[in-house]
Amino acid sequence: MIPLTSFAGKKVAVFGLGASGRASAEALKLGGAEVAAWDDKPAAREKAAALGLALTDLESLDLKGFDSLVLAPGVPLTHPKPHWIVEKAKQAGVEIIGDIELFCRERRAIAPKSPFVAITGTNGKSTTTALVAHLFATFGYKVEVGGNIGTPILTLSPPSPEVVHVIECSSFQIDLAPTLDPWVGVLLNVTPDHLDRHGTMENYAAIKERLVTRADAAVIAIDDAVTVKIAERLRRRGKVGTSVSITRPKIEDGIILDGTRLVRRVQGRSLTIADLAGIPSLRGAHNGQNAAAAVAALGAHGFSLEIVTKGLSTFPGLPHRLEELGRRGKVLFINDSKATNADAAEKALLSLESIYWILGGRAKEGGIEPLKPLFSKVIKAYLIGEASDLFAKTIGDAIPYEFCGTLDQAVDRATRDAEESSNEAPIVLLSPACASFDQFPDFEKRGDKFRELVQAKLDEPK
Ligand code: ADP
Repeated sequence: MIPLTSFAGKKVAVFGLGASGRASAEALKLGGAEVAAWDDKPAAREKAAALGLALTDLESLDLKGFDSLVLAPGVPLTHPKPHWIVEKAKQAGVEIIGDIELFCRERRAIAPKSPFVAITGTNGKSTTTALVAHLFATFGYKVEVGGNIGTPILTLSPPSPEVVHVIECSSFQIDLAPTLDPWVGVLLNVTPDHLDRHGTMENYAAIKERLVTRADAAVIAIDDAVTVKIAERLRRRGKVGTSVSITRPKIEDGIILDGTRLVRRVQGRSLTIADLAGIPSLRGAHNGQNAAAAVAALGAHGFSLEIVTKGLSTFPGLPHRLEELGRRGKVLFINDSKATNADAAEKALLSLESIYWILGGRAKEGGIEPLKPLFSKVIKAYLIGEASDLFAKTIGDAIPYEFCGTLDQAVDRATRDAEESSNEAPIVLLSPACASFDQFPDFEKRGDKFRELVQAKLDEPK
């Protein structure tokens, strides 16, 4: 826990009492602030109270006299419309901030030069966060990981020169961090997402840009139109930045992906860092972008090629993202349950061959239409959940498919077909391109169930 000493004696309202809100309240109290904590959901209030947090009904309280309102990232700040607590704070002239901002202020107060890597992007945040942490750990650093990846930032240890804080930041968190000033800021990509919460693409992109604007050093993957513009603006303002790219192999300086090789470019010359082809946790060009950005985030450390290569090749990866579960005979099982939309499933299809594809669940808008050009990589599809009829229609006669209903049926049939096929290296892949909510509480539970079903197959006597 980080005692927020920079808030000693201040009066702070905390609204939204999930894990990060509760941690904010506790960290503020530890630092000597007067805290008024509240949530408009009774279940959240009960949980917070059971954990010993005193509650203050903020609905019936005037916020005049408060120094700050600390808002949980899930509470609407601007769109679809500001939450009533936001209106209330604005009327009272109280600043609205989040837990990352609290961390930044404490860091500036107690350890302004401490290593703090902040990572954002529409996709790849968690993977890159885990990889940056793993690489620093390989160099022997003490590393702490938090933010959007799961562990609230304020539950980590205080900023200090001895600890590298590697923090995943969502757009909602950045929106609540007006003075976000990391040691290294990493921006992976910006494509339309969460527009219901940010109003317009311009607004969403401007929020993402803030992560690199005040960074001591910025790393930007220049593979989409938005990040290219952001990198240009940064350069024009004379900021130090490292470009990485999976689409522009000819950049003068930076880190690029050339085929499956990660290459450092120095004044137009190339230096190979590692071949990602042999690293199962970094399959696919999208992971090439994550790996390039992670290596760039190491800064000068990245020059120790031997250690970087060792770090990359020992990266265990994250569960539910192209996660290798094991092999039975020639059949490889891969869990990509995190692929809750077509964009994410596309990455799996692009990264693999000879696929026995388990998909379905609750369809997102557009279904799997965008994946049609990749159907040729699939040997057969196994449909589960609500989306089955819709997906069967999209597949048409492009590839064989089977209605399986549930995940266990799909695993049975896909395994059988893969084993009986003449294919040398078939892959049974769960990459649903759908939300899980029709059959599972979340994508993690869906992936856990898949892992359990696959484990039973691996344990079966042959
Ligand atoms: P996030 O934390 O941003 O959701 P993850 O690292 O959890 O990202 O990856 C989620 C999914 O996003 C992956 O399963 C993959 O399909 C896709 N993905 C990962 N990295 C990238 C990337 N750099 N560019 C595009 N898509 C990516």
